[in-house]
Amino acid sequence: NVPKQKHDYQSDVARLRKIVINSLYSHRDVFLRELISNANDALEKLRLTSLTEKEVLSGAGDLNITIKAYKDEDGKGRVVIRDTGIGMSPEELTANLGTLAKSGTSEFLARAESTDTTGTGNLIGAFGLGFYSSFLVADRVYVSSLAAKSSRNSEPTQYVFSSGADESSFEIYPDPQGNTLGRGTEITLVLKDDAIEYMDPHIITDLVDKHSSFASTFPIYLWTERKETVTEEEPAEEKVTDDTDEDEAVVEDVTESDKTPKTKEVTVEEWIHMNSQPPIWMRDPKTVSDEEYESFYQATFKDYEKPLAWDHFSGDSGSGVSFKAIIFIPSELSSEYWQNPLQSNARDIRLMVKRVFITSDLGEDALPKWASWVKVVVDAEDLPLNVSRETLQSTRFLKQLRSIVLKHLLALLARIQEKEPEKWVTLHKSYGNVFKLGAVEDTKNRVKLAELCRFATNQRKETSLEEYLENRKKGQKQIFYLADMGTTTEHLAKSVFIEKLHARGYEVLLLTDPLDEIFVQNLRLWKTVPFQDVAKAGLRFGDEEMSPEEEKEEQKKLTEQYQPLLTWLKEQAGDIVRDVVISNRLVTSSCAIVADMMGYTANVEKMMSASQA
Ligand code: ADP
Ligand code: MG
Repeated sequence: NVPKQKHDYQSDVARLRKIVINSLYSHRDVFLRELISNANDALEKLRLTSLTEKEVLSGAGDLNITIKAYKDEDGKGRVVIRDTGIGMSPEELTANLGTLAKSGTSEFLARAESTDTTGTGNLIGAFGLGFYSSFLVADRVYVSSLAAKSSRNSEPTQYVFSSGADESSFEIYPDPQGNTLGRGTEITLVLKDDAIEYMDPHIITDLVDKHSSFASTFPIYLWTERKETVTEEEPAEEKVTDDTDEDEAVVEDVTESDKTPKTKEVTVEEWIHMNSQPPIWMRDPKTVSDEEYESFYQATFKDYEKPLAWDHFSGDSGSGVSFKAIIFIPSELSSEYWQNPLQSNARDIRLMVKRVFITSDLGEDALPKWASWVKVVVDAEDLPLNVSRETLQSTRFLKQLRSIVLKHLLALLARIQEKEPEKWVTLHKSYGNVFKLGAVEDTKNRVKLAELCRFATNQRKETSLEEYLENRKKGQKQIFYLADMGTTTEHLAKSVFIEKLHARGYEVLLLTDPLDEIFVQNLRLWKTVPFQDVAKAGLRFGDEEMSPEEEKEEQKKLTEQYQPLLTWLKEQAGDIVRDVVISNRLVTSSCAIVADMMGYTANVEKMMSASQA
């Protein structure tokens, strides 16, 4: 007889629930991970709020998550997941569970509706379906929640959100049980008949071990009941007799067979702490398996794919703050990265202090843009728990962290380049351009980053700058390149600008990416050897038969001889070119249009005008 408010789901939610319920059967295990991760978020929010508002802690003691499964009076299986986190007011229940606030989920929807079912499975991991994954296993879900006390809400009331798997609406009403929770949220899943297996503590334990032990930094307890056979205590004096009088031995044998029925079955009930291992970043790297790193990464950074590589290390510098960290390279660069490389900064650095999560946003400068995609967990020993952005800056912790993370990342990349050719190919495909950006942007690490860069040439599919230098011809004093963004290397390889160089056996870098040209213009030299644009006038190879003076003389003679033709050509093309000259660089082509020696090349001009727009 409590008034129940009925709400229709936002249309997006209705669509999402339909996808969830219809097409994700084989992925339904994820519900537990999602609910645990929500509970963990709520606990983290509570703890962070408590730093400035103590009263939020009242109502319930420990910060933890509990899971209990049982059969209800209708014989349906129920799984109850409860946390002592921040909780939700009735308005929040409506807003958070009845609408899709997250942009990620809408993206999920858009993509899920355009892919087949197997694709959708991957999407769940990528976006996280969150709360709605409950309907993968439940016919009905009750969310009972009591918001934490705060200055704005000093007398919160416990409310229930309830919805069935195939209902287009949900209900919100005051909990008929009253404020039973003390604080936090309790989610009751009334299991579908074909999902009854999730009542089994072994299955829950397995799932938590496999997928969710990293989803929470707070303790997760599971309610267990097991039957145990215990032998009933024998009366004490009987034992004494046994020990003291050997003549009683025969008698004892007789009593022994009498004792057998004295064992009995009792039910032992207890809360089992499931995620009792220390977090993996605190463990000795030698004791952590690859699988553990992988599932830790997947759970922590909500990535369906396994990481490509990682490094686990301690940072300990003179300035006082010691920390443990793991850096991860995602399987590929996020598709958003290049949409706005200069602004893009994923900043997925999860900072903990003494194992307590503090923030995942350390600000724009935490890492340079080229490295903003790297995923980091870091746990600092000596920072205060209520550390603020300002404190972080004043301890120079951020600077120190940045340089140590970059040092380890660069070493990891170099190690892959050197020792893991297959992984290197995958890595380079996704991150190759990031290294070029880095070599331009991060002058401190320029050399190490440039060593990771690869370029196509007229002689081979790709080369590093190091290999290019090894392949130099005798007397060659420049690194030749030809740049034209937007074309293909095949096209460039046929360019008139490299005819002569190619014929003479010189290697020329063929640059087709806008970043390539910015790269060579910024570096200017590699190991003292200058880059030379072969499209610029005045090019010298270094092995010419004539001296520059002789060449000039020859050029002068030819120019005089062909003066009428040159004058006529200049008249015809005067609007387009600055000058028409005799060239010695062509082998089979009859003419070429080249950039002025001092001027920008066509490519850079295009980019300059684009960047001013
Ligand atoms: P996400 O966690 O990615 O935001 P979910 O669908 O998992 O998406 O959850 C939606 C929202 O519901 C959360 O952002 C949070 O505000 C709220 N929520 C879910 N579970 C809880 C909980 N146990 N305690 C408090 N709030 C919760
Ligand atoms: Mg969630």
